[in-house]
Amino acid sequence: MTLTVQPHRETLGLKDGRLLIGGEFRETDETWTHHHPATGEEIGSFAVASVQDVDEAVRAARKAFDEGTWPRSRAGERIKILRRYGDLLREHSDELRGLQALDNGVPLSFGQIYATSVGIAADIFDHHAGWIDKVGGQTLPPYQGGDHLAMTFREPVGVVAAILPWNAPFVLFAQKLAPALAAGCTVVVKPSEYASFCVIRMVELLIEAGLPEGVVNLVTGPGNPTGEALITHPGVDKISFTGSRAIGRRIVEASAGTMKRVSLELGGKSPAIVFADAPNVGLAAMTCMGMVTMGLSGQACVAHTRALVQRDAQDEFIAMAQMLAGAVTFGDPFDPAVLASPLINGKQLERVLGYIERGQEEGARLVTGGTRLDGDYASGNFVAPTIFADANNDMAIARDEIFGPVLTVVPFDDEEEAVRIANDTEYGLGAGVYTNDVRRAFRVSKALRVGMVGINGFQLEPHIPFGGYKQSGLGREGGQSAYEAYTELKTVMMPL
Ligand code: NAD
Repeated sequence: MTLTVQPHRETLGLKDGRLLIGGEFRETDETWTHHHPATGEEIGSFAVASVQDVDEAVRAARKAFDEGTWPRSRAGERIKILRRYGDLLREHSDELRGLQALDNGVPLSFGQIYATSVGIAADIFDHHAGWIDKVGGQTLPPYQGGDHLAMTFREPVGVVAAILPWNAPFVLFAQKLAPALAAGCTVVVKPSEYASFCVIRMVELLIEAGLPEGVVNLVTGPGNPTGEALITHPGVDKISFTGSRAIGRRIVEASAGTMKRVSLELGGKSPAIVFADAPNVGLAAMTCMGMVTMGLSGQACVAHTRALVQRDAQDEFIAMAQMLAGAVTFGDPFDPAVLASPLINGKQLERVLGYIERGQEEGARLVTGGTRLDGDYASGNFVAPTIFADANNDMAIARDEIFGPVLTVVPFDDEEEAVRIANDTEYGLGAGVYTNDVRRAFRVSKALRVGMVGINGFQLEPHIPFGGYKQSGLGREGGQSAYEAYTELKTVMMPL
């Protein structure tokens, strides 16, 4: 494998990363060195924010909220700056995609596709800029008689802590900062330690777009001390988090003391239900296998990792999924022919290989894959696209979020059984239904306890609410309700 980081560092002008607090970039004594997941090569270092640094960042955001112009600014001013930022993101798209390829190894070929795309992040800023002059309150008539007026107003929730995972840094940055800034909040953002360089650049561009001092603050570093200091800080009004269920739970605990508002986008074990009458069983197989291999190698929260396939359609489904598995290419993420990324780190590699071993021990049939790539790929965290068939829903490979290129195929006989298996999970993020029967498609969609159902296909767009039931999270990103989640509702009453 031929990736050499240094020339890309030079072309992209990559510098060591600094914090941004109250409008000033600053270095720290402690730093974090990031290594490329495809080669283990050192990419660079960035500042680790201490408890003290986080405290200063929150205070700067508080000051900008309590005393600054942003929460009190005219709608037109905020719209202008957020739209300018969207344009800046588009102008810097190639640079940002390159930084992402260095950070988390997502290939350039995939950096145009929804979750990893800069263009969609820009669209999300445009979308939320559009709400600024449209979301207001209500005027309510008296209920029990009398002559009085009640009105509601939407006001910004305050200081927002935005905590990001590493897998889709652009879109997830936008899903949090666009509505927060549109609503007039101030923000402290913490990227993942495995994808910080591209987020640092996104923050620099926000300043270039004209955001006033202290409105956005950046603290880089790992979950501990940086993330912990942020979620336990009494000066934070709202935490908006995307990441694992374990840290989501920790955030709910840590917020209880000061009753922080919380939005959580967590994991999933999303089922795709493929009926034998699907318009195209092969296409359904390509969609599921594509979601667990292409681009992020299955490190995607909403990937359809559990394929529930009606028995008569199984052979066709598996044959097509296997064909796609064979077509996935790995290697240097800057090579346009490369389609999939490595796993993010050694810990994740061991975890995925552990699940593959467990699937075999539990009696599922390994159709393809199941191994780490060797030879040229041995220095990276690459796992071959893997398919398990004849699995049942009690197996760990059907229950746990593996976050790797593993598709688990579970057979079913009828609609009732399919719905029961699909809902037999602690998660509830997304699902797919593949059938030619329209009434069945809607019946099953209604019965599924998930936040998003794709019928014969799945698409994500800035205005479509995104989020999950059950332990997949709290709240939704995208659309009007996401904007409103960064506001408080105030009621003002007056006798006439
Ligand atoms: P993670 O939970 O390990 O880390 C997420 C972020 O939390 C990182 O910035 C990390 O530094 C920080 N963090 C860790 N410990 C913390 C603590 N104690 N306090 C505060 N912050 C802390 O998740 P990850 O490995 O980066 O991402 C993978 C997970 O994200 C998967 O479970 C995936 O399903 C989920 N995810 C969900 C969505 C969604 O929209 N539902 C999207 C992408 C990823």
